[in-house]
Amino acid sequence: MNRIDTNVLVIGAGSVGIAVAYYLKKHDPSLDVTLADCGQPMAFTSAQSGENYRNWWPNPMMRAFTDRSVDLMEEIALESDNVLQMTRRGYVLATRQTDIDVHLAELEAGYVDSPENQIRMHTGGANGGYQPAVEEDWKSAPNGVDVLTDKAMIEKAFPYFDQEIRSVIHIRRAGMISGQQMGQYMLQAYREVGGKRLTGKVDHIDSADTFSVQLDNGATIVQAARIVNAAGPFVGDIAGMLGIDLPVDNWVQQKIAFEDTKKAIARTMPFSIDLDPQYLDWDEDERQLLAEDPDFAWLARELPGAIHCRPEGGDRGAWVKLGWAYNSAAAAVSFAPEFDDQFPEIVLRGAARLNPALRAYYGQLPRSTVHYGGYYTLTEENWPLLGPTDVDGFYLAGALSGFGTMAACASGDLLARHLLNRDLPDYAAMLSPLRYKDPSIVAMMNAQQNPGIL
Ligand SMILES: Cc1cc2nc3c(=O)[nH]c(=O)nc-3n(C[C@H](O)[C@H](O)[C@H](O)COP(=O)(O)OP(=O)(O)OC[C@H]3O[C@@H](n4cnc5c(N)ncnc54)[C@H](O)[C@@H]3O)c2cc1C
Repeated sequence: MNRIDTNVLVIGAGSVGIAVAYYLKKHDPSLDVTLADCGQPMAFTSAQSGENYRNWWPNPMMRAFTDRSVDLMEEIALESDNVLQMTRRGYVLATRQTDIDVHLAELEAGYVDSPENQIRMHTGGANGGYQPAVEEDWKSAPNGVDVLTDKAMIEKAFPYFDQEIRSVIHIRRAGMISGQQMGQYMLQAYREVGGKRLTGKVDHIDSADTFSVQLDNGATIVQAARIVNAAGPFVGDIAGMLGIDLPVDNWVQQKIAFEDTKKAIARTMPFSIDLDPQYLDWDEDERQLLAEDPDFAWLARELPGAIHCRPEGGDRGAWVKLGWAYNSAAAAVSFAPEFDDQFPEIVLRGAARLNPALRAYYGQLPRSTVHYGGYYTLTEENWPLLGPTDVDGFYLAGALSGFGTMAACASGDLLARHLLNRDLPDYAAMLSPLRYKDPSIVAMMNAQQNPGIL
């Protein structure tokens, strides 16, 4: 049997666990930290990420939290010659509605205490001061949000969109990164200052004065003064080993990526989301057949909005990615989640509504199309669980839902601050697993109209 002593054991080497380990050693290089995973680093949920980031939330706390993460990613981009391939063409939210008061109210709610994030309205005129996302360079992009409600202006800026689009919201502090590169960078920096790694599956934890953690059925025992549980979709299972019942679910979400041989998607298109619910684009015979089959009738009904599309691989790349997080059914977790065979055609037809040129691929997606996905591990309010628990020395870094790549840095930094007793940011209490005991925070969570799941 292998016996290891460590001060902090971080369980899980996905984006979040790696960021926790990295920021612990960055804040205190002398701290003894061990990062354990049963598989390769960055190989589970973090390998399935769409790798998009944004500071857009219908909630000021989550906006501040992700803004902090973007600050930290920019710090890494600057010090590493942009090893994380950060770009910033923004998030574009498109709708056929002219009444967008609901969306404007959400923007105002998210950016209320953030003067650098101005909301600029563009109602007409030549280009009304709107600066299109010509460059992918993150340093030259503006902050804030541009709201376009003039049809001619929208057609000029986004000539490839559905002609029925009447309003466009362009979030500017948003774009893409390589989550894998970021993870590798942090892992290397962590190891260079003496951070340790361990391969093995945690399957039992005893707690007395310290934690005694069994890996691989007792082949390795780790004595740890403190534990950070960053086990992604398995965060609840690890917490359960100490009798903690976490309020999290796991939803399978899927994506496809394919080589855009027909050049349907402009390489300069920002990450674009069709906000409108829709009926999928079937012909009448197909729709009738689907409606008659109890297993597939849902495909003939109205589906929710928020389908998204983006070019993949930068300006000189040739691939596109499509995603649609329409699933909200909790699933049992496994290391091999099951996907829906119909998803590629469903997401293609859904995405073709905003980008009609994608119709060229109906029934003929390239053979090399990659269909992949993983779990959104999430709380009901869709706020992550970051901080201490009722069990002394046992911390959580989980429930990062569909935003764990973009929020990894702020999560890692926050956990390091908790463990090292450093100053905490204002959002720390609201993201703490102990928040459910604070009636004022519970009231805030309950008052949320839209938890911002994408
Ligand atoms: C389809 C999809 C698209 C997404 N798109 C985006 C996006 O565009 N932008 C964004 O910011 N986020 C996105 N996300 C979310 C993001 O990918 C996740 O929030 C993030 O990867 C979670 O990271 P993690 O480190 O918590 O979990 P993981 O990456 O799952 O890491 C957890 C690790 O714990 C290990 N582990 C589990 N149990 C044990 C055990 N018992 N013993 C040892 N090790 C264990 C696992 O092997 C794994 O490596 C997306 C997610 C999905 C599914």
